[in-house]
Amino acid sequence: MKTIFEPFRIKVVEPIRITRQDEREKLIRSVHYNLFGLHSDDVMIDLLTDSGTSAMSAEQWAAIHRGDESYAGSPSFYRFERAVKELMPFEHVIPTHQGRAAEAILFALTAGQGRIVPSNTHFDTTRGNVEATGATALDLVIAEGRDPTSTHPFKGNIDLDRLERLLAEKGDQVPLVMLTVTNNAGGGQPVSLENIRGAATVAHAYKKPLFIDGCRFAENAWFIKQREPGQGERSVQEIVREMFGAADGMTMSAKKDAFANIGGWLALNDDALAAAARRRLILTEGFPTYGGLAGRDLEAIAQGLKEIVDENYLRYRAATNAYLGTRLQKMGVPIVVPVGGHAVFVDARAFLPQIPPLAYPGQALAVALYVQGGIRACEIGTVMFGRAADGEERPAAMDLVRLAMPRRVYTQSHADYLLDVFEEIVAQKDTLRGYRIRSEPPALRHFTAEFEPLSS
Ligand SMILES: *Cc1c(COP(=O)(O)O)cnc(C)c1O
Repeated sequence: MKTIFEPFRIKVVEPIRITRQDEREKLIRSVHYNLFGLHSDDVMIDLLTDSGTSAMSAEQWAAIHRGDESYAGSPSFYRFERAVKELMPFEHVIPTHQGRAAEAILFALTAGQGRIVPSNTHFDTTRGNVEATGATALDLVIAEGRDPTSTHPFKGNIDLDRLERLLAEKGDQVPLVMLTVTNNAGGGQPVSLENIRGAATVAHAYKKPLFIDGCRFAENAWFIKQREPGQGERSVQEIVREMFGAADGMTMSAKKDAFANIGGWLALNDDALAAAARRRLILTEGFPTYGGLAGRDLEAIAQGLKEIVDENYLRYRAATNAYLGTRLQKMGVPIVVPVGGHAVFVDARAFLPQIPPLAYPGQALAVALYVQGGIRACEIGTVMFGRAADGEERPAAMDLVRLAMPRRVYTQSHADYLLDVFEEIVAQKDTLRGYRIRSEPPALRHFTAEFEPLSS
């Protein structure tokens, strides 16, 4: 099909300010070529992230008006709890203001000095919260998950042999096993149902709980339905229930697969751990029936969870990324395959071979996308990861540019516009030059570093 059927009509619009190229050249220079420095109304298509950027539905906005702001026992909490349990059958559901707050509570209670928390790949806030307790965050994704050209259908899978070996050798240091679905830091690649069941079996053999970082659970379930033998006839809801039924708990950012602009939760079965988590929640977030959220946010999440498992939505979601990915490849733009659930990753190092990694090919492409078309993407490469803890600068494993897709926000015409901009960039790609960093902060430099174009 050439045409993606967007399964919604547009009822409220947000105008996009149209900018000219000469204006954008000035704007990007004024923020020292760092796209995080731009005001978002100077961006025409913002693909910086899919987090918290979803368009809410009419039903979600209606639900917001139903939000009950009682301090304790709000009906909005019970609607939220019911919506979560409908998909994720855990005993205890504890709302937090976003995903990282759930992680902070979980790891403050379970990790700590000398402990090891394995995952397929920890997302950066998960890693940060594990490491903040003094523990080690260990990534055990399968080898195919680290190869941008491998077309393995479930590149997010955890390596069960390595997990088993870790538990056999150092089990007493491991408080729990984590699985991120989809594997965000690994390119939004899915985890198979078989691998989730396998991870649960291995973890349980060593009496360890399995926790799922469920941020993109619906996209993951859609890939299971499409790609896993024997799953094609099942509903996404059924698959989701089985994914979480195998686990003992989860953390969630409702800013991803719940169509909410804020929110998250920690859910689990262990009564004692849940009681400790609620005590901590009261200190850092709020009373257990609202966590860090307003009643209206709980309502938006509850409704969003009903909509996210709609298969027509998920088909459109996957089709949009596949459409962009296939056409970029046809144009000769190298991308990470298969295309993930929430983003298309361009391999900028392969696309711009004249720019060495330490001259930041990803940054060069991201700046070109902005100047050429007002598109904001995110460098995920040497700018983000190149400065090691020892102060040395080295090329990252890959130099990628992530085009993250906000949910239900852009249409196929916007995708076509993006492709037009890429076509223009392809035509002049040999003229693109690298950058040098003229100032950077001591950590997380990509957010605030200042760049300067290299003259040759
Ligand atoms: C976004 C995200 C988080 C953190 O959630 P926030 O709501 O941003 O705090 C954790 N894990 C994964 C996989 C994520 O994508």
